[in-house]
Amino acid sequence: MRIHAIETGRVQIKASQIAGRGHGLARRLAPLTDSQWSAWLPTIAYAIEHRDGVILVDSGASAGLMRLPRWHPYFRFAVRFDIEPDDEAGPQLRALGIGPSDVRRVVLTHMHIDHDGGLGAFPQSEILVSPGELEVASGIAGQIRGYLPQRWPKSFDPKPLALDSVAYGPFACSRRLTADGAIVAVATPGHTRDHLSVIVEDGEEAFFIACDASYNEGAMLAGQVDGVSADEGVASATLGAIRAFAASRPTIYLPAHDPDAARRLAKRRTTRDSHSVMSEQEAGAK
Ligand SMILES: [Zn+2]
Repeated sequence: MRIHAIETGRVQIKASQIAGRGHGLARRLAPLTDSQWSAWLPTIAYAIEHRDGVILVDSGASAGLMRLPRWHPYFRFAVRFDIEPDDEAGPQLRALGIGPSDVRRVVLTHMHIDHDGGLGAFPQSEILVSPGELEVASGIAGQIRGYLPQRWPKSFDPKPLALDSVAYGPFACSRRLTADGAIVAVATPGHTRDHLSVIVEDGEEAFFIACDASYNEGAMLAGQVDGVSADEGVASATLGAIRAFAASRPTIYLPAHDPDAARRLAKRRTTRDSHSVMSEQEAGAK
C-alpha cells in the first residue's frame, strides 16, 4: 500500500493556536490577539493507494482561501494562506497519475476550511463525513463558527460516516473502511467534537493519519492541547489514546500541519524513533 503526502499550499497560524495558552474560553480566544505567528506550515492531504481504489484523507486547502470573508475575526486576524490553483489536491494527484475517477472515496477528518478545499475536483468520489461534523459546519451557524459551507461545490453530497461503538485499540469508536479491514476510521475527538483519524495497517506497522488531532508529533507526545479544542479533557484523552496506540505497535504519525510529516512518511520513521531522537537531544542538552 502506498501513501502520498499531498502538500496543498502553506498556512500560518498563531503560536497559541498550536500550543494552547491558559484554559477555557481564554485559551480559545488567545489566537485572535496573539502577535506571534507560526512559521509557514504545510497543509497536507493524504492519498492512500489501496486495491479497492484510492482513498483521499482530507482534500486540503484551495486557492480560494487567499480570499476569505473579512467580517470573521479568525479569518481577519489569525490565519494566512499561501496557495496557487496547481497546489490543490486534484492537480497534484493528476501529476502522480491519479485521476479523479481513481479516487473512490474522500474521507474528511473534519470540515475546517483547509481540510475540505478543492472538493470540486472529485465530483464522482464518495465523500464521507461524520454527521456531527457536517451539522456543525452547515448553514449560517457554520459560517459563524469559521467554516465555509457557502463554498462547498454543487456536487457536494456527502455520505454520513457514523463510527460504530466498536473499540479499536484505545479508541472507543471505529469503522473499517475497506473490505480487507486494513484501513480504519477511529474517533479522535478534541480539535473538533467529531474529529476522526484514519489508521492504515501495513503488516506490523501502522500509519496514523491524524490530520488535526494534534498539529505536530511533538504536541501529541507531550499531551499539549491546542488553542481550538472546545473540551480540554476530551482533547487530552485523545492524545493519550494516540500515545497508547503508538506504544502498542510501530506507528508513523501523520498530522496535516507537521513540517516533518512528509519526511517521516518517506522514511517510515515511527514515533518510537522520534521519541529516542528527542531523548538523545535531551540527554545531549544536560
Ligand atoms: Zn482543523
